[in-house]
Amino acid sequence: MTARDPVTSSLNLRHYWMPFTDNRRFKEKPRLVASARDMYFITTEGRRVLDGLATLWCVNAGHGRPRIIEAIRRQAGELDFAASFNLGHEGPFRLAERIAGLAPAGMRQVFFTNSGSEAVDTALKMALAYHRVRGEGTRTRFIGRERSYHGVNIGGTSVGGVGANRKAYAGALMPGVNHLRHTHLPENAFSKGQPAQGANLADELERVIALHDAANIAAVIVDPVAASAGVLIPPKGYLERLREICSRHGILLIFDEVITGWGRLGAPFAAQRLGIAPDLITFAKGVTSGTVPLGGVIARDEIYEAFAGGRGIEFFHGYTYSGHPLACAAGLATLEIYEEENLFGKALALEGYFESAIHALQGLPHVVDCRNLGLIGAVELEPRPGEPGARAYEVFEQCWERGVFVRPVGDALAFCPPLIAQPMHVDELVGTVADVLRSNPPS
Ligand code: PLP
Repeated sequence: MTARDPVTSSLNLRHYWMPFTDNRRFKEKPRLVASARDMYFITTEGRRVLDGLATLWCVNAGHGRPRIIEAIRRQAGELDFAASFNLGHEGPFRLAERIAGLAPAGMRQVFFTNSGSEAVDTALKMALAYHRVRGEGTRTRFIGRERSYHGVNIGGTSVGGVGANRKAYAGALMPGVNHLRHTHLPENAFSKGQPAQGANLADELERVIALHDAANIAAVIVDPVAASAGVLIPPKGYLERLREICSRHGILLIFDEVITGWGRLGAPFAAQRLGIAPDLITFAKGVTSGTVPLGGVIARDEIYEAFAGGRGIEFFHGYTYSGHPLACAAGLATLEIYEEENLFGKALALEGYFESAIHALQGLPHVVDCRNLGLIGAVELEPRPGEPGARAYEVFEQCWERGVFVRPVGDALAFCPPLIAQPMHVDELVGTVADVLRSNPPS
């Protein structure tokens, strides 16, 4: 073990149970950051590390943006907290209006949560309640997809398709859920942007509908790019076909845009980039550039209007911190930065450079696939026999040692830089991965 820096050695690492982390391995060799600015972390040892993943697909505006920091500070001084149950303050109204202005046409109703997981479970409940309020209360089933990630609450775990996230809870997951096949086909290896093969995988939805009857199905949920489970890019025509089948059968289509939202694909949402109109969109992460937890659901106008007929509470759902003042202040400042700096347009402009850099990894030791869309990309490594994920994890550790942070997902390494990235950052990110693979290939 290397000597620890003063901050790390002053900490008792015992008590914090870290999420989605091999706690023992991490605590033997901790990676702690002390501060962050723009594209870089500074570690507790004083090293500069490029943030090649917008930390956890969140920090789209880059780190330490004074405008966001100042907005949070000001808000904390004026109104630290007010809940939104039968009480209001201006933050969530202003932010919802701004989000409605960025959302696809006809989607102007915003419900706030505190995370992507809560956004997903909110969208599922909204779909159930919507069908019920319209007299179609038999529509209770959901259809998810293998290798999609929809957070960790019980609804999101149930519709999600990541085996490792489900297996400890298998017996307690929601009933009435089917999963479509994932869209990752070997024949699409090294596709640039959307792969050519696989639109027909959406036809499986017809088979599930025939089995359960459309009148029993509430919604289909997919992440337009399945990022957390390995960066799986939707084949051309696939999402269009899902949309068409859902519309034909009165089934809602939920796009989980927790990662693909807020400019990641060069437009406010993947729905716009890909030209598909979902019924509900979930969001989180980039809405505040990761500074304060905030998530939410954007609903098609007709969905909200279906609830608005009667008197009393329309939707028996909400969180104490829905529309928290600090989160809304951070969200408003973040969306202002996105607009004023044209960061979604800049992401689109950088996409070609990012794509070429990632695909230049083809041919390096162990590389079996490179893929990308917008500013999301991945390189897939051949798994070491009997040790799934081990090779990518070691490359991740070596990249960290060399000053670049990426994320191992299975045997892929995922890239997702802040939208303020310049070509030189892409060079540093992908160049470091290439150096690790070339000069010191893990066995
Ligand atoms: N949905 C998608 C598509 C995600 O990628 C994530 C997180 O990565 C979530 C939901 C869950 O978000 P959170 O971790 O904020 O609960």
